[in-house]
Amino acid sequence: MIKFDHVHKWYASGLHVLQDITLEIKQGEVVVICGPSGSGKSTLIRCINKLEPIQKGHIVVDGVDINDPRTNLTMLRAEVGFVFQQFNLYPHMTVLENITLAPLMVRNTPRAEAEKTAMELLEKVNIPDKAGAYPGQLSGGQQQRVAIARGLAMKPRIMLFDEPTSALDPEMINEVLDVMRQLAREGMTMVCVTHEMGFAREVADRVIFMDQGVMVEENTPEAFFSNPVHDRTKEFLSKIL
Ligand code: ATP
Ligand code: MG
Repeated sequence: MIKFDHVHKWYASGLHVLQDITLEIKQGEVVVICGPSGSGKSTLIRCINKLEPIQKGHIVVDGVDINDPRTNLTMLRAEVGFVFQQFNLYPHMTVLENITLAPLMVRNTPRAEAEKTAMELLEKVNIPDKAGAYPGQLSGGQQQRVAIARGLAMKPRIMLFDEPTSALDPEMINEVLDVMRQLAREGMTMVCVTHEMGFAREVADRVIFMDQGVMVEENTPEAFFSNPVHDRTKEFLSKIL
């Protein structure tokens, strides 16, 4: 579903931010990526829908080499939903408008159908009564659930999450994680950058630890947490658990 083949990325500053990343994520897998600040986690997942270009290696998403100049980026991003730390909703649009915008514009979905799907998604993320609200009228947890619904409205085959709960007050974290747990149960392919290790233990098929642009270790959650191999992983876990 997602393949990284010896991927390298440098920022213009010269920083070698991704170093020889090789990785395969299968359909329906839930992968959690963790690691210290600045290790390249966000960069790595932003490469999956080409929000960031790479300079060496290949990334194949759903059978398509995304660095092939013929790749249709709009379609790639319709297949790959992205949920950001800072929600990134359009503040001047209602919740319903936020969710229906891309299906209307990109997929040419008829409005009635787009709105029906949006209402179903709002049920799914447990805020069916907020369709007419503006983002500024919602709590952080509610805004993030709208952002997830907006991603799902494109019927993506993959969902990427970049620290979706780290801007939230503790009491709102679980309402967002619950939606993610539900998605995982339904078989969505998910790549989640998160330090919610309870979520990782419970939901992830695999945990990847990154440090300084390198994939240091990957393992099942059981092995990762009970028996980390590398010193850097042990040190990281001792700080966050
Ligand atoms: P955090 O946990 O703080 O979110 P991260 O693991 O997601 O960190 P990245 O955001 O991927 O880390 O950043 C990796 C490194 O690349 C950092 O040193 C960062 O300063 C640098 N970096 C990120 N974006 C850019 C950019 N657009 N130009 C230059 N350097 C960048
Ligand atoms: Mg980040």
